[in-house]
Amino acid sequence: MANSSYNMKRTKIVDIFDPALLDTSVCVKGWVRTRRGNKHVQFVALNDGSTIKNIQIVFDLSKFDEEQLKAITTGSSLCIIGQLVPSMGKGQTCEIQAETFELYGSADPTTYPLQKKGHTLEFLREIAHLRPRTNTFGAILRVRSVLAYAIHKFFNDKGFFYLNTPLITASDCEGAGAMFQVTTLPMNDLPKTEEGDIDYSKDFFGKAAALTVSGQLEGELGATALGAIYTFGPTFRAENSNTPRHLSEFWMIEPEMAFYEIEENMDLAEEFIKYCISFALDKAKDDIEFLAQMYDKDLVERLKFVIHNDFVRLTYTEGVKILEQSGRKFEFPVYWGVDLASEHERYLVEEHFKKPVILTDYPKEIKAFYMKQNEDGKTVRAMDVLFPQIGEIIGGSEREADYDKLLKRIEELGIPMKDMWWYLDTRRYGSVPHSGFGLGFERLVLFVTGMTNIRDVIPFPRTPGNAEF
Ligand code: ATP
Ligand code: MN
Repeated sequence: MANSSYNMKRTKIVDIFDPALLDTSVCVKGWVRTRRGNKHVQFVALNDGSTIKNIQIVFDLSKFDEEQLKAITTGSSLCIIGQLVPSMGKGQTCEIQAETFELYGSADPTTYPLQKKGHTLEFLREIAHLRPRTNTFGAILRVRSVLAYAIHKFFNDKGFFYLNTPLITASDCEGAGAMFQVTTLPMNDLPKTEEGDIDYSKDFFGKAAALTVSGQLEGELGATALGAIYTFGPTFRAENSNTPRHLSEFWMIEPEMAFYEIEENMDLAEEFIKYCISFALDKAKDDIEFLAQMYDKDLVERLKFVIHNDFVRLTYTEGVKILEQSGRKFEFPVYWGVDLASEHERYLVEEHFKKPVILTDYPKEIKAFYMKQNEDGKTVRAMDVLFPQIGEIIGGSEREADYDKLLKRIEELGIPMKDMWWYLDTRRYGSVPHSGFGLGFERLVLFVTGMTNIRDVIPFPRTPGNAEF
């Protein structure tokens, strides 16, 4: 253990490959991926999370004691000072000739779970608290972060305002999915009303509350004041859907725009997704290429294909006709009025059109109450964006702007008015045509990383029966 690194500026590994640094003294800090070598020289691959790339550290055993180096095991953490020199080795342009090292923390090889390469994704899910230290999860998490930045940048550049909608809500009328209750009532001694129901007036908020399933309704309040807003935050759904595309806690982006009709809404959705994918391909190139090489050889090509091709736009009715005439035996039968299953969506996208599809004008029965009703009395101005591998990635609509029609629909569906008065005020005062959509962030990250299970694209997945880390 030599000098403290205190006085020397640390260089992140992502910046170390700058040719201007060659033949200078540098300080790097990170975690050991591997150590190998012989009696004369030892090589350590060090990673600090700033890039998929490791830097090779060379220990000349004429300068270091072999015993001392034994503490440098996979997973341990180090500070290294040394000379950055061109490398003779394959696959790297430079390496560091170690002059001093400090071991920050050891990692016992008999217990550290990430000893070797090539763990399965299933195994890594069991150790989700450590999996960010693998190449795969490092890459995924960096891509995720780059995509989050792309989203904020896209909307900011367009003059949208970022609106924070509540996570705790008292209105249970969105219809998007089952909700997680939020309460401080004692579970073993619930206060009851005279009728024997739970007396929520005694609860924290004086009424029943839950975690939000969508920020849209509040987003509409923002859009009809600021013109165009977007939300980007967590949403919670207590459905028992154990699929590779559903989480109980996921992040959603919900833009909402005054004066947009359905066509402009579709244009925005298409431009938005293409922008995010291009941004990631540009800013997270190394990570995407790594994931492509490891998991999905067609990934980059598929991403470029989506960027460079127009999405197909057709109505639900036309889509159902294609499915009925496909001659395909689906697990769930297809008929007009059915809520399309993922196998139907994927047939249209992957087999029939071989392009992303925006499906519009769905039967009103299978869509939410707030969607604008068409003249035909049967369909609403919904739009779902369907993607290869993923199925539905975006769900949106033009909103019903007419007070009377909206109220009638609310009554038909028996939605309690006491929950809705504030929402109806957007139509009562200065109502305007407006539209919006919701993009499931993890579904976008799935698509861009080429992963196939949504549990692998969020750092701490919550699914039925799982909230461990
Ligand atoms: P699905 O039919 O796939 O269950 P949905 O129609 O219930 O989705 P919406 O209410 O339209 O979903 O939500 C908007 C978007 O949020 C969806 O297009 C999808 O990208 C994403 N999403 C919805 N539910 C989940 C979930 N449980 N986990 C992750 N993302 C989700
Ligand atoms: Mn939907």
